[in-house]
Amino acid sequence: MTLTILNPATEQRLAQLERAGVEETDAAVAAARAAFPAWRAVAPTDRARLLRRLATLVEEHHEELSRIESRNVGKPISGARGEIGMVAQVFHFYAGAVDKHHGETIPVAGGVDLTFREPLGVVGLIVPWNFPLNIASWKLGPALACGNTVVLKPAELTPLSALRLADLALEAGIPEGVLNVVVGKGSVVGRRLIEHPDVAKIGFTGSTEVGQEVMRGAAGTVKRVTLELGGKSANVVFADADLEQAAAAAPYAVFDNAGQDCCARSRILVERSAYDRFAELLVEATRNLRVGDPEDDATEMGPLVSAAHRETVASFVEEEPLFRGEIPEGPGFWYPCTLVEASNQDRIAREEVFGPVAALIPFADEAEAIALANDTPYGLSGSIWTRDGARALRVARALEAGVLSVNSNSSVRVSTPFGGFKQSGFGRELGMHALESYTEIKNVFISTEE
Ligand code: NAD
Repeated sequence: MTLTILNPATEQRLAQLERAGVEETDAAVAAARAAFPAWRAVAPTDRARLLRRLATLVEEHHEELSRIESRNVGKPISGARGEIGMVAQVFHFYAGAVDKHHGETIPVAGGVDLTFREPLGVVGLIVPWNFPLNIASWKLGPALACGNTVVLKPAELTPLSALRLADLALEAGIPEGVLNVVVGKGSVVGRRLIEHPDVAKIGFTGSTEVGQEVMRGAAGTVKRVTLELGGKSANVVFADADLEQAAAAAPYAVFDNAGQDCCARSRILVERSAYDRFAELLVEATRNLRVGDPEDDATEMGPLVSAAHRETVASFVEEEPLFRGEIPEGPGFWYPCTLVEASNQDRIAREEVFGPVAALIPFADEAEAIALANDTPYGLSGSIWTRDGARALRVARALEAGVLSVNSNSSVRVSTPFGGFKQSGFGRELGMHALESYTEIKNVFISTEE
């Protein structure tokens, strides 16, 4: 059984890979299990050194990895460079975190109470195709730093960067068996990881639908689970905001990565008194977005990841939109930037499109803005644009979302926690918070009584 890997911008074949099944998954879990005792016993400074070496190798192979990612996902090379830069930073960060995530001593009667942060063992990591290596690193960094060994399952469409990273990990001196990559179907390899009795935890990023299956499957072995799932985030623009700045930034908040971004601010809520002016500015800014060859340094948006995904995205646009952009002719899974005027009840405002389609929705006042923004099963991300500082804080506290930004659409950073409320998942990645979900706390009481 082989797997053909395509370049979504050209539809040309990039690679032909063996597709792993249950047997190969079991072998990877066995390898990770065998490597665990020695890996957890590596002295913290040595484990940190190995992770730092991996970070440095990612930096040294920055352009190569960026090209792999750009070609495999069809994403603009400029974006891919940013993502691979972040991968290196993530490994640097967790190299530095190895000896800073420690236990406590707690005052108790009759003795000493202390806690240890124990690694979980073998961790299964299942990641999507939109930011393949980036999202993998968010899990690999804390998992390895805490002394776990790993089986990583990249998405079937985009396994190339993960395979290359596994080579670099060996080159860095990380022992064989510590980081295993298995390429195969979610319903086979992913499911096996979820149900495998020797896998202690699943770190999952993907759709809410599959996330629900992960939870159900993990129940059988009471596996630890962290879930980073879908989103339908709101970009809330008040009339007192710098409208020019908000409108200039809004296209990148939803069309970046061709909208295939869990944080996409795909519901643009605009205060009614500023709606017409904002819509005009937004159309203009969207028109200027450069869509084309991902290998061109100036390109800002590439194609979608696959023909099947393009069909799904297209199914959301049922009526003549407010604006539809241009796309290149010829091969490639292109879909134009699309702006649609909608109500929050429309399908386009309720479901995750995961493509370059944004819904513009008017609101009357602050209370309605909050109600609309929260009227979704998701709760991942969002933005608030206003010049009123008190309002910014009030709204930020009222929004049911894990990752917000004010007068900015940027809310993902190596050192800050990332994750969702509601059906966008649970658990936090990045920052020191991610370490919590890759360790178990062990509490030990030592009697000091004579
Ligand atoms: P997906 O859920 O289809 O697949 C994600 C991963 O799960 C893939 O590796 C896939 O092979 C695997 N998988 C599929 N079925 C499985 C099963 N039955 N058992 C085990 N594993 C299975 O998602 P996708 O289409 O690759 O990615 C897009 C989705 O990911 C969107 O919903 C997006 O919002 C979400 N996402 C979330 C975040 C976040 O951090 N919250 C980040 C990126 C993407």
